[in-house]
Amino acid sequence: TITAAAPATTGELSIRSLRKDFGAVTAIKDLDLEIKAGEFISLLGPSGCGKTTLLRMIAGFEAPTEGSIELAGVDLVGMPVHKRPVNTVFQAYALFPHMNVTENIAYGLKQSKTPKKEIGERVHEALSMVRMLEFADRSPAQLSGGQQQRIALARALVNRPDVLLLDEPMSALDRKLREEMQVELKLLQKRLGITFVFVTHDQEEALAMSDRIVVMYDGKIQQIGSAQEVYTSPANSFVGGFIGKQNFVDATVESLKDGAVGLRSVNQTLIHPAGGEANGIPLVLGQQVQVAIRPESMRLRLADESAQAPNSVPGRIASVSFLGDTVQYVLLIGAGKEIIVRIPQAQAVQLPTDQDVIIEWDGAAAKVYADES
Ligand code: ATP
Repeated sequence: TITAAAPATTGELSIRSLRKDFGAVTAIKDLDLEIKAGEFISLLGPSGCGKTTLLRMIAGFEAPTEGSIELAGVDLVGMPVHKRPVNTVFQAYALFPHMNVTENIAYGLKQSKTPKKEIGERVHEALSMVRMLEFADRSPAQLSGGQQQRIALARALVNRPDVLLLDEPMSALDRKLREEMQVELKLLQKRLGITFVFVTHDQEEALAMSDRIVVMYDGKIQQIGSAQEVYTSPANSFVGGFIGKQNFVDATVESLKDGAVGLRSVNQTLIHPAGGEANGIPLVLGQQVQVAIRPESMRLRLADESAQAPNSVPGRIASVSFLGDTVQYVLLIGAGKEIIVRIPQAQAVQLPTDQDVIIEWDGAAAKVYADES
């Protein structure tokens, strides 16, 4: 038995001009974020970018220095943690070891003096949501990591929150279990219609689960978009480098004719990107830029005597690794600069280390950035 999806606005979060100072450190800088009801949102970014601080302010464990956090039009700032229709699942599941599964899940409801019959029904409902009904009488020590994780989830869901906050909840699980839980969690979220705000520093996890990803760095939002948007159209070089593997090459704008751009890189290679813009700003002659090309957008061919074509660079193979579905080549292109190329297993030819090759790509695959990150 699953509760009906919540009405369309109950889980709608509206965060405006949010700021958080810890003494001299500003963890969140003037942040605006609109989260739709029933959306699966991930906060993704490197350690220290402020994602946990943002989550803790939504939960109420931390008070903002400035700004507002509204849930369905009601300002949460100043509202005590237990009054908010928001629950958190933490990294450490923190199940009570001396209580069995049922007692763990019922604990909060007992504290708030919920009638016994209702507690029984809601614990049953929460256990069924996470498919753990048959484990009701076990103690946490008798459960695997993944099962403990599900109980922690049930303990949060038993409160029927409008918003569920998840702070790296799967970081203790091994890779395979983690991938299974990702699928399960996403299906559960869609079934319940609860807004999920999921904190992670694991980009694959964010890409796999989220409706939208909020990429954060240095207390600020760098980009908000679907997995595909942040991967294929990163807003700046930070996002491009953080989401997926990315090769960066420094270059100078050398020619600008009829919308065709010529870039000269340190090793004299001409690069012709598809557009005459960097982060949406027109390029100018002499400008220093960074060119970003994904490893899977590059090809390799054996070095020969032919004149160097645009969108290619000579390199030497430093290492070859088999990654399963792809073969990864690490190449040196001079001055110690490394380029990573990934070729689908079926198309990969065997190339030895120290082999001289030409690395090629399509001009359209090269993205130009003029920012500093
Ligand atoms: P991680 O992935 O490592 O948990 P994060 O992105 O969640 O990182 P936060 O924990 O939100 O980052 O921290 C953001 C910044 O605020 C960091 O510079 C951190 O040192 C600082 N910070 C967080 N909490 C406090 C605190 N209680 N007192 C002082 N500084 C803090």
